[in-house]
Amino acid sequence: MADINPFESLKEQIDDAAAYVDADADVIDRLKHPERVLSTTLSVDMDDGSVERFDAYRVQFNGDRGPYKGGIRYHPNVTEDEVRALAGWMTYKCAVVDIPYGGAKGGIAFDPREYSASELERITRAFAVELRPLIGVDRDIPAPDVNTGQREMNWIKDTYETLERTTEPGVVTGKAPSSGGSAGRVEATGRSTMLTAREAFDYLGRGIEGATVAVQGYGNAGSVAAELLDEAGATVVAVSDSRGGIQAADGLDTEAVTAHKRETGVVGGFPGADRELSNEELLAADVDLLVPAALENAVDADVARDVRADVVVEAANGPLTPDADDVLTDHDVYVFPDILANAGGVTVSYFEWVQNRQRFSWTEERVNDELERIVTEAFDRLVDAYESYDVPNIRTAAYVLALERVIDAFDDAGNWP
Ligand code: NAD
Repeated sequence: MADINPFESLKEQIDDAAAYVDADADVIDRLKHPERVLSTTLSVDMDDGSVERFDAYRVQFNGDRGPYKGGIRYHPNVTEDEVRALAGWMTYKCAVVDIPYGGAKGGIAFDPREYSASELERITRAFAVELRPLIGVDRDIPAPDVNTGQREMNWIKDTYETLERTTEPGVVTGKAPSSGGSAGRVEATGRSTMLTAREAFDYLGRGIEGATVAVQGYGNAGSVAAELLDEAGATVVAVSDSRGGIQAADGLDTEAVTAHKRETGVVGGFPGADRELSNEELLAADVDLLVPAALENAVDADVARDVRADVVVEAANGPLTPDADDVLTDHDVYVFPDILANAGGVTVSYFEWVQNRQRFSWTEERVNDELERIVTEAFDRLVDAYESYDVPNIRTAAYVLALERVIDAFDDAGNWP
């Protein structure tokens, strides 16, 4: 995995698009930097009586289009710059799918697998206390990301509500349904990945049925994307997680792989596979569609030179370095970017927030129908932009579209004070 600062990658992506946007350099410069950064230290009691220190961050990148919105990541590699990049990507993602949010992100630098459930609860609640002055249903709304989920969101909601002496379920999204979560939220990121892939293959005149697929990262986003692609008629021939991958030439039974991963914690050892393979082999697999669904920088220029897929649909945030993008553009590989493909997560978070504010729940069918409408409309708008702007690739078109929308909101509101 390439050791590239994702915040530098974000700035490069914005610069690439800025050449096609009618805006002054100072306006673009503003859009490359966050509005606010919380960098804090959590001191938390451990089960053995010791006190441990954790570095935690919340970045509010841009609020021109609405309240700040973005997930919270628990991972040992979390840094302030990584969170800045992820917060920027959230800003432009919300703009691409045209939902009324700005962008934010949070993270704590630690490995949650090394802590007990009660320690994780204390760490999460300590972070929620630090977040309290910044977040709010109309200010900044956290959500899950890598290694966080319904449980952590419920703790944040409960801490906030207790301190504020109110009930405000819309202060976080991605909650359990019993705490105000939405139907369809857990599957939403994988669902928008599948929808983007389906639309991409239609756009390219091929159809997703029978397309062979490799998925890197069999977590929340990747496993659901794999299952839904399988259901849509594609053949998922290889999947992996951080411990390695598996392959089956005739296709993996993705539901059974998910059950195996749930039971054993890894995809390796799945009885229906022909063979095990490394992550390097997976990324170079001879497939029609590659879905990177793990972490940033999975594909650098060297890895990109070995990619044999015709289409890449990014379920992860920032899985390709800018150099990898250049290589894939040169090789005529179509890359459908993260800020469209994985936008299902934030879109259904938006539906959850709307439901919380109305105190009225939608059916899963309604959630999925509205998500499909938003993703397919955004896809159509994006390929129109790609064809009309004379840009080198679809990512650049997505940033042009997103920058224009954020700049419009800024221009309409004016700069104050
Ligand atoms: P997750 O923790 O559920 O899954 C991540 C998976 O990637 C795990 O299976 C892990 O083993 C695997 N992995 C880690 N390093 C790997 C490597 N080097 N090679 C292969 N596999 C590796 O996390 P998630 O929520 O599915 O998030 C994955 C990506 O999707 C992240 O980039 C995240 O920001 C993005 N994303 C998630 C959501 C969401 O709603 N969960 C929304 C938008 C974007």
